[in-house]
Amino acid sequence: MVTFETVDAFGGQVREPDQPLAALDWSRVNPATGPLYIEEAEPGDMLTVEILNIDIALQGVMAAIPGAGLFGDRVSVAEVKLVPLRDGFAHFSEHFHVPLKPMIGVIGVAPAGEGEGCGVPGALLTIGDLHAVMGDGEVMVTGVECSGEVTVRVDVVKGVSIANPRHADAERFYTIASHEDLDVAVRMAANDMLDIVMDKLKLSLNEAGMLLSVLGHAEICQVVDPKVTARFSMPKHFSPRS
Ligand code: CA
Repeated sequence: MVTFETVDAFGGQVREPDQPLAALDWSRVNPATGPLYIEEAEPGDMLTVEILNIDIALQGVMAAIPGAGLFGDRVSVAEVKLVPLRDGFAHFSEHFHVPLKPMIGVIGVAPAGEGEGCGVPGALLTIGDLHAVMGDGEVMVTGVECSGEVTVRVDVVKGVSIANPRHADAERFYTIASHEDLDVAVRMAANDMLDIVMDKLKLSLNEAGMLLSVLGHAEICQVVDPKVTARFSMPKHFSPRS
């Protein structure tokens, strides 16, 4: 079990509501904490990271940045917004309180050399970019960005190689893929799920595809980074009769 202390997406630099964004040190933006060296992990293994707890700070920060996000061409004034986080809510304004739903924006291992996502010895796990709450898409380019602590349990599964990350919560299982083109990212995530369902349930491609078509959801993680991220989800528990 290990706890990562993480700094918000602005590197903890935004402290005042009227702070000019242009004065930020942009080399400190989007930091991740790590890497954590995991002794037995080698290329060709899979790392499982069980998220045990996410503790978030008492204040989050959001931003409007000209040119950034889906509305960047309409944003003329850069602005930061400090968001108090207490009593289970992000206090967006005097009138709008959004229930907290802490999540991790960045979690990953190092690619091997110039390759993609194969991992290097020790895996080099990093975690960062916590959000007190964020909508699918992160359309304005920030969620409620916050610092915090993430406690995880890490295991190595020897000899299982995956090209893209996978995730599970209490109800559903997710395949995740990033690409410059959202359409391609959706196809990658869905195809990963198709392969998993064919393999686990011993179904033909046509049958597995039909099952994905009725129980699966093609969903969006974010559409504001150079590579956008899609996920495809299936319920974790279902039987042919359920
Ligand atoms: Ca973020």
